[in-house]
Formats: sequence, structure tokens, C-alpha cells
Amino acid sequence: MRNIVVLTGAGVSAESGVATFRGPDGLWEGHRVEDVATPHAFERDPALVHAFYDARRAKLGTVEPNGAHAALARLDAEWPGELLIVTQNVDDLHERAGTKRLLHMHGELKKGWCLACGERFPWDGPMGENSLNAVRPEPVEGLSFFSNEQRKSSPSTMTKTDHPPDGPGLSSSGRTDVRGTSVRTSSGRTEVGICEAVNICPSCNAVGRVRPDIVWFGEMPYAMERIDEALMRCDLFVSIGTSGAVYPAAGFVQTARYCGAHCVEINLEPSLGSYFFHESRIGKAGELVPQWVDEVLAA
Ligand SMILES: [Zn+2]
Repeated sequence: MRNIVVLTGAGVSAESGVATFRGPDGLWEGHRVEDVATPHAFERDPALVHAFYDARRAKLGTVEPNGAHAALARLDAEWPGELLIVTQNVDDLHERAGTKRLLHMHGELKKGWCLACGERFPWDGPMGENSLNAVRPEPVEGLSFFSNEQRKSSPSTMTKTDHPPDGPGLSSSGRTDVRGTSVRTSSGRTEVGICEAVNICPSCNAVGRVRPDIVWFGEMPYAMERIDEALMRCDLFVSIGTSGAVYPAAGFVQTARYCGAHCVEINLEPSLGSYFFHESRIGKAGELVPQWVDEVLAA
């Protein structure tokens, strides 16, 4: 019985309405990749990075798996040999279609990673909303902590110390009032309780230390050893909906082919590494993947 490795990329999710990683304008939902998808970006502006991923996590509730996800789940359920479906996508559409033999090499939107204790865990809802400024009980002299709205509307050159203590800091934050959980103290100052924070590690209770469990540029993709091993052993390698531009995934076909696998790509257009494949099927994944799965299961 043959061993199969499937690699899926943005093209598969795009057909479900998930924004692809790089649009024609070179931006990702209006952001430069280096502003939202690098460890440096997170250090520099965690609120922006959290807001970006929080929005994408929320969007998952509005999209559904398509025919390609369903067909791969059927392959997983019915294929008697070895199978590993490696996805570059961080959404949960493969799981929701029912796929079990799945590996997220670039992490998952619906997982958090605590930088305090190192644990990874499922995560629903926002991760960043107010989490970085809610933990301060009151403004510190000379510093003010912006709410998310205030950050967004602030000129990019503004730094925390540009505001006087009575500027738009935490004590006048609209968000705490909107939420209705702020407390007016006898001094007339608004204090924000720790119950405001949404970014609390379920493992160690650290506040504001959980980051999206997403592999950013400059970070090592997950499970590379296991993937390499599967690629070297497989008889059939199929790449679906990937441009062939992002390494190391773009190199999987070379490993698989060198080790003797038959290599098939299914994509809207020939990928950058198209010549490494024995076979290219050009068209929509939602139509071509079910056909391919039918063929494989009937063979
Ligand atoms: Zn922790």
C-alpha cells in the first residue's frame, strides 16, 4: 500500500473566503508582512499584531470548509495506507472538515503560546484586546497606556512618553467605560480590575504573555523532522494550492521526488517549482481535489 503526503497552502483556504497571505497589492489585509508577522513586529507593537490575528481568528467563524477540505477528509478516513496532510494554513478548516492525520507546520490561529511558561493550548476569542494595558491599575507618572482604539489612531511617530500624564491614558480610556467593569475609586480615578485582561495563560496564569501560536517569518516551522521523514518514505506527494514561493515547504517536492515519489501539483496556476512535479493539474482545488481523491481511492 502506498504512502501519501499532501501539502496544502493558501489556495485551498482562499476558496473558502480566507484572505490569502499576499494579495495582488503585496499586502496582507492591508498590512505589510513585516509589521504583523515577525517576532520583531510583536516586540515593537504587540497590540497591532494581536489585533491583526484576533480579527483573523474571529473571521474563522464566518467561513466554511470547501470541497477540497471535504475530499481530503474523505481520503484521510478511507485511505488504508500511511497518510500525512501537512498544511501551511493556520485556519481550522481541515479539522472542521474532519481530517485527523494533519499537521500545521505554520501553527494555528486557534492556539496560544505562553512566553512565560512555554505551554501551548487551544485559544478562542481575542488574545490582545486590552490585554497589555488592562493589567496596569493606574497610569504611571510620565507614561500613558493606550487603548487599542487610541493606538490605532495615534500617529506612528508617537511614543508612549509623548503624552502628558493627563493625556488619553488609561484613566480616561473609553474602553474601560464601554466594558462597564471599571471601578471609580474614592479619589475619583478609574481603576481597571484584572478581570479586564483577556490574555491570561491557562497554565501559569501569567497576564499578557500569550502570543498567537503562529510561525512567523524568521521562525522555524513546526515538526520539520517528522515531515522530512514522511517525505522520504512517501510514494505519492501532492501539493495543493501553494505558490511554491515559501520555503521550506517549497522544497518538499524536491525531497519527495529525490526519494522516488510520484509528485502531483494541483493549483490555480503552475507553481514556481512546477518543473519538479511529474503532473500539474491547473484549476480550482474545490473541483480538482475531489476528482483526484476519487482516482486515488479507486486505484
Ligand atoms: Zn504560561
